[in-house]
Amino acid sequence: MGRTSKDKRDVYYRLAKENGWRARSAFKLLQLDKEFQLFQGVTRAVDLCAAPGSWSQVLSQKIGGQGSGHVVAVDLQAMAPLPGVVQIQGDITQLSTAKEIIQHFKGCPADLVVCDGAPDVTGLHDVDEYMQAQLLLAALNIATHVLKPGGCFVAKIFRGRDVTLLYSQLQVFFSSVLCAKPRSSRNSSIEAFAVCQGYDPPEGFIPDLSKPLLDHSYDPDFNQLDGPTRIIVPFVTCGDLSSYDSDRSYPLDLEGSSEYKYTPPTQPPISPPYQEACTLKRKGQLAKEIRPQDCPISRVDTFPQ
Ligand code: SAM
Repeated sequence: MGRTSKDKRDVYYRLAKENGWRARSAFKLLQLDKEFQLFQGVTRAVDLCAAPGSWSQVLSQKIGGQGSGHVVAVDLQAMAPLPGVVQIQGDITQLSTAKEIIQHFKGCPADLVVCDGAPDVTGLHDVDEYMQAQLLLAALNIATHVLKPGGCFVAKIFRGRDVTLLYSQLQVFFSSVLCAKPRSSRNSSIEAFAVCQGYDPPEGFIPDLSKPLLDHSYDPDFNQLDGPTRIIVPFVTCGDLSSYDSDRSYPLDLEGSSEYKYTPPTQPPISPPYQEACTLKRKGQLAKEIRPQDCPISRVDTFPQ
């Protein structure tokens, strides 16, 4: 496969490189902002699950220009530095990470908390949806500690079977909860974004990290919100029809653009989880499953009996 084929198949991947974004996800946040004016009046923001950092790039550029805004970015993985962005490497489901984030906001609450977190997908839909929901709830838990009243929370959500339970949990804390699908998010994916505006926790609510919102005793039979109790939140698509369709392939000579020239990724991953496997493969040391029938006789002979 040529290096230009991904540019053809995924126009947002190509445009991200050409515009200096570290990932195509930047367009999702830009399209969400266009619809909901997320950055209006924002000077302090938290970017949860931020690596490789395209949302942090957008935030640092949009909120009061680089330098005057304050962005704290958190991810399990190391992230190359970005001007004006404080980085924390940690797991957002862990108490220690949550505490570290909160420390940065002592006395000065954040206006916006965003989370584009995605767990490693297993392919088992129920497991993937559950893990995604846990990540969103961990992000919400952190948001309850740092958001100012009236603040905004945006988080990736999987529109799966039990999404109404999540909507109901979000509605406890925000006056408006919407489900938004940016045009740069593939139609074929169940990914969408919960846009929660007007942070307004219940009276008397005291954020408490020792009692996380994570619902470890989740009971699918008990927790179903079906029939008249089903929660329907407005569904909004962002990015008008003139923006590129993320499920389509486009020719390399895009209309109205200058002649196509291959652009390398803006910021290649600095220590991706697959790095070790690549090094071993290059050295021909990647372990292969050895089946006795594939072994030369002499090797089989040496197998322990
Ligand atoms: N918004 C990012 C950007 O624009 O560059 C892309 C985020 S990527 C889709 C999802 C990220 O979630 C990954 O970098 C992954 O390491 C992170 N993640 C997953 N689980 C996490 C956790 N428990 N704590 C912190 N980060 C996590």
